[in-house]
Amino acid sequence: MSDNARPEIRFQGAGVSPGIAQGAIHVVRDDLDDVARYHIEPSQITNEIGRFETALIQTRVQILEMQQKIAESIGAKDAGIFDAHLLVVEDRTLIDEVLRKLEHELCNVDWVFQEVAANYAETLSKIDDPYLRERALDIQDVTKRVIRNLQGKAPKTFLALTEPHILVAHNLTPSDTATMNRERVLGIATDLGSRTSHTAIMARSLNIPAIVGLHDATEKLETGRHVLLDGTNGLLIVDPTPETLAHYGEIESRRVKVVTQLKELRETKSTTRDGRHIVLSANIELPDDIEAVAANGAEGIGLYRTEFLYLNRSTLPTEDEQYKTYRKVAECVSPNPLIIRTFDLGGDKLAAGTVDVSDELNPFLGWRAIRFCLENTDIFKTQLRAILRASAAGNVKIMFPMISGLDELRRAVSILNECKEELRRTGSAFGDATEVGAMIEIPSAAISADILAREVDFFSIGTNDLIQYALAVDRVNERIAHLYEPTHPAVLRLLKMIADAAHANDIWVGVCGEMAGDIALIPLLLGLGMDELSASATLVPRVKRAVQSLTIAECRQLVDETLKLQTPSEILDRCLELANQRYGDLLG
Ligand code: PEP
Ligand code: MG
Repeated sequence: MSDNARPEIRFQGAGVSPGIAQGAIHVVRDDLDDVARYHIEPSQITNEIGRFETALIQTRVQILEMQQKIAESIGAKDAGIFDAHLLVVEDRTLIDEVLRKLEHELCNVDWVFQEVAANYAETLSKIDDPYLRERALDIQDVTKRVIRNLQGKAPKTFLALTEPHILVAHNLTPSDTATMNRERVLGIATDLGSRTSHTAIMARSLNIPAIVGLHDATEKLETGRHVLLDGTNGLLIVDPTPETLAHYGEIESRRVKVVTQLKELRETKSTTRDGRHIVLSANIELPDDIEAVAANGAEGIGLYRTEFLYLNRSTLPTEDEQYKTYRKVAECVSPNPLIIRTFDLGGDKLAAGTVDVSDELNPFLGWRAIRFCLENTDIFKTQLRAILRASAAGNVKIMFPMISGLDELRRAVSILNECKEELRRTGSAFGDATEVGAMIEIPSAAISADILAREVDFFSIGTNDLIQYALAVDRVNERIAHLYEPTHPAVLRLLKMIADAAHANDIWVGVCGEMAGDIALIPLLLGLGMDELSASATLVPRVKRAVQSLTIAECRQLVDETLKLQTPSEILDRCLELANQRYGDLLG
């Protein structure tokens, strides 16, 4: 039993970022629950009033638009219900109370408005008058709308929390995660999400222990409860008992020991026991992640997800801004390579303020990545010129995401050549010999890899997408996460086709999806002949230990055997068997 004598409760999800965190939780149920209270300075009052007024005007316009649509489609009588909603946004008593409380309590206006409106609605709902009770419902409806409008123009309030906490949310977007403060967010637990969602990928990069797929944890928990979060095994333990805490204390000290041993590998080469060097690189999302690259002994950057530069802002990044950012990263890792992937917005990465590709029925099959770039060549060229200029400062390579066939690849390369021409005309320095690669992450590209291989310098396999498309399993949908199987025989065959096509055409091939950081699967990737592996920097030391413990000969034999197996679990078991023999301590 814990101090407050509550029984321990355990929630099981999927561990997606390893490590243990302990502390009080902050629960974010849906958009509206993240109205946290935070202090503002008196000098910020005018700004808060401005935000409030704009949100009221916006809400009024939205209600009028809705009223008009209903009047046109159903009739003026039904549209009349919105008159009551309009009265709420014009209600002086409510508005004056918000302004008074804002000045008096010096808190953010979203929180003040929510408090005042909730009190107002509660008072009305208690009066024994059906008309006034209806008004209470109107107020609740309009409150949601006003707050949504307020939040559209403000950073999410839970991101401004000042105390260290474990964030328990229904869902988090990659943009939310990108703006998180590592000092305050000790751990993350979400109802939705899966291992290859970009929120999980970001959590690993930020080294924040995380669990996803808890289904309804936010319904059952309140802010302030004390929890222990085990990001390795996917357990969220509420009010842990002293026995649980002692057990985790031991696990933590074993983990620290392994991490210390792994640190010693930093300067060593990632060479197999039979002498094959595998290039081991890191994936980064934000320029701040570069420190972790060398610190974890990676040989460079195998995937820079540049789309994060476009998130959480209202204007597009300029060529100069991008050039400076890419140059800094290139210089930092030089002479090692920096592979810059042109921006891959869409799917679960939406840049609401700039590149708006939202509102699609199937965003992962939609207007994403290279498809968007080929139709918005101005935005694309701005980035390509910035990358080309930065490539004069280091060992920069470019790669294109979501290539589905030769036409797309050729069009992207031809736009790149136009950019080179433009830079030549303006006399700007750039790396003319910058290598160009294609991400292979769509089954059509995998199956026609022999055609693509003739026109690029390298392949980088995006297994996160390749698996979702090959198996038709949405990579962020936790309900079908059990069907997302990297060791499916179909995936194994696709990976073999890609690697064989690359080598037959004398180009190198790497893996930059999450599979490259899964130490149970390293034997498979080495046996298939991958030349490079790129994973979150925090996972690199483990991958290096795995590489150093294996021989290419035994990995090839493993692949020969697994190609004859018929189910994902048989293949996984065979991989685990070899991994356990060679580095079982890491798997435990
Ligand atoms: C992938 O799909 O495996 C990949 C590396 O790209 P992203 O995860 O950004 O889609
Ligand atoms: Mg991808």
